[in-house]
Amino acid sequence: MIATQKDGAPPSASDIVKLTPPDIAPYREGNTGIPFVTTFTSATPGPHVMLCALMHGNEISGALALDHVFRHEIRPQRGELSLVFANVAAFGLFDRRDPYASRFVDEDMNRLWDPEMLSRDIRSVERMRVQALRPLVDRVDHLLDLHSMLAGIQPLLLCGPSEKGRALARSLGSAATIVSDPGHADGTRLRDYGRFNTPGAPQTALLAECGGHWQCATAQTAIDTTYRFLRATGTIAAETAAPHIGFASPPDRWVKVMDRFIPQTDTATFAQPFTGLETIPAAGTIFARDGNRDIRTPFDNCVMVMPARRLTRGKTAVRLGQWQTFTGPADA
Ligand SMILES: [Zn+2]
Repeated sequence: MIATQKDGAPPSASDIVKLTPPDIAPYREGNTGIPFVTTFTSATPGPHVMLCALMHGNEISGALALDHVFRHEIRPQRGELSLVFANVAAFGLFDRRDPYASRFVDEDMNRLWDPEMLSRDIRSVERMRVQALRPLVDRVDHLLDLHSMLAGIQPLLLCGPSEKGRALARSLGSAATIVSDPGHADGTRLRDYGRFNTPGAPQTALLAECGGHWQCATAQTAIDTTYRFLRATGTIAAETAAPHIGFASPPDRWVKVMDRFIPQTDTATFAQPFTGLETIPAAGTIFARDGNRDIRTPFDNCVMVMPARRLTRGKTAVRLGQWQTFTGPADA
């Protein structure tokens, strides 16, 4: 049962939830045989594009974006478009009086996306759901996985370590900061699953962190990012996407994640509050303390990526990166 905070979250109050969760019951039946999965197919061949929401059950901005796509009766002009509500069991427990609690039921669904992990003899709500979704995901060419954040508010596009991910992220033309990262040490994200992470394979995937949980601007960013993605992958025409896309000034640089800080004690603290994307100029600057150890920046111009609000032993507290400048045109 969900009774404890699993997100390192501060005490909650219902007034921090500015969004109303969508009613996804109409999407339960779908048309694929998998509950809460709908695939629209064009008569014209093309790539299979997947939009994923609710990988974390309390990140409702992505569900609002998928609801928007359904309500506007968006259909692919080529290929296939799959709309997936992932952790519907956790979402079903969403309670605005304790919105942190419904991130998952048994375990984090976004750490289970590799065959070895799934082969372990462990039963959980999330493992069963991942197994149900895998046959579909194995057919997907381009994935957008919509998330929101506990601590940071500036939108990020996490594109994985390879050039193809950065190119896809840049092709959206959004204002989000593009972060190239190797994923998590404690399990594999959907973004990093299978061929999405194979450098030579054509399959690509982005994880969009659309902003702070439950903020109106975050839902707007999720919708904006969704239509940019559908436009960039050629799933819908530019004129179909245009009414749902705002003005953006795309960044000319991106962050390469090169290190991370994982506390080894239960008493780790940051030296100052971080909200994300702060740049610490000098290598060797103390940015955290872990037990009796000072934790220092490993290189100059160290960018703090997705700092946790509360530091937990064994969990990534912050990723450490450096700004890189794009070379070549946006569609390179
Ligand atoms: Zn998430």
